[in-house]
Amino acid sequence: LVVREEDIELSEELGAGNGGTVHLVVHKPTGTIMAKKVIHVEARNSVRRAIVREMQIMHQCISPYIVSFYGAYLNEGDLSICMEYMNLGSLDNIYKKIGPIPEDVIGKVTYAVLAGLVYLYKQHRIIHRDVKPSNILLDTKGNIKIADFGVSTQLINSVANTFVGTSAYMSPERIKAERYSVQSDVWSLGITLMELAVGKFPFQSEGEPLSVFELLEFIVNEPVPSLPPGKYSAELDAFLAKCLIKDPASRPTPNDLLKDPYCIAANAKEVDIEEWAKVLQSPKDG
Ligand code: ATP
Ligand code: MG
Repeated sequence: LVVREEDIELSEELGAGNGGTVHLVVHKPTGTIMAKKVIHVEARNSVRRAIVREMQIMHQCISPYIVSFYGAYLNEGDLSICMEYMNLGSLDNIYKKIGPIPEDVIGKVTYAVLAGLVYLYKQHRIIHRDVKPSNILLDTKGNIKIADFGVSTQLINSVANTFVGTSAYMSPERIKAERYSVQSDVWSLGITLMELAVGKFPFQSEGEPLSVFELLEFIVNEPVPSLPPGKYSAELDAFLAKCLIKDPASRPTPNDLLKDPYCIAANAKEVDIEEWAKVLQSPKDG
């Protein structure tokens, strides 16, 4: 199947990030509902074409923990990426709507993200590079999947030197422009899980908001954040401390963490995400 712009019918906007806008669309020839992300890429045409070519690997990224890919193409200089529509949206919107995510659900998120990261690296040598709540998506069937990973080197390079390429989930070594590795995604996962557990971004101060520079400086130089005492299990606390080891060489890999007792227990535990997700549906959604 080749997805083309003329076969797409645009529906509501699902959200917008720093780099692009996502719409719900229908692929008319097949009736498939998709999410279409449009990114404006500041680059030469040859570079844009190379990005589309590199994106095609995503056809081979098939896992229950990865948002499926339908196709990518250029349209008047913009890059369009058509992917599986996840009907409960991303975890940032979910926690902003319902507050802190229960620990049982966080356990399932942890397992899904790690299993997705291990799949991407083992099968395709892909490092995600953008783990954060808005890139973890849920659906009403109880699936938890990751999206927006760095498949295209050309796209990573065209975005890297812009403000858009800066993220509050970046590891200390990434901020310092040192070697990037699978462990860098583990740091981002740690910050993400802490945000979901607490219901707010961990580096957010009470008073004046930090500037981007102050935030990055803080991540590199200040002690790592931890969960507020009393409300959380010792297991989650210990697991987050492993994710947030500052030295990437001492920090575990996604594969190490998948074998961690916390993760094994989370995977074994029966948590009905489908049932829990009902709190997210307004009556009009059925
Ligand atoms: P950034 O641009 O900093 O990476 P972001 O991840 O929020 O931030 P986008 O990837 O453009 O930006 O996504 C915008 C929003 O669209 C997301 O927050 C999410 O709620 C929604 N979204 C993205 N992909 C899907 C999808 N496959 N299914 C359903 N909703 C999606
Ligand atoms: Mg995203």
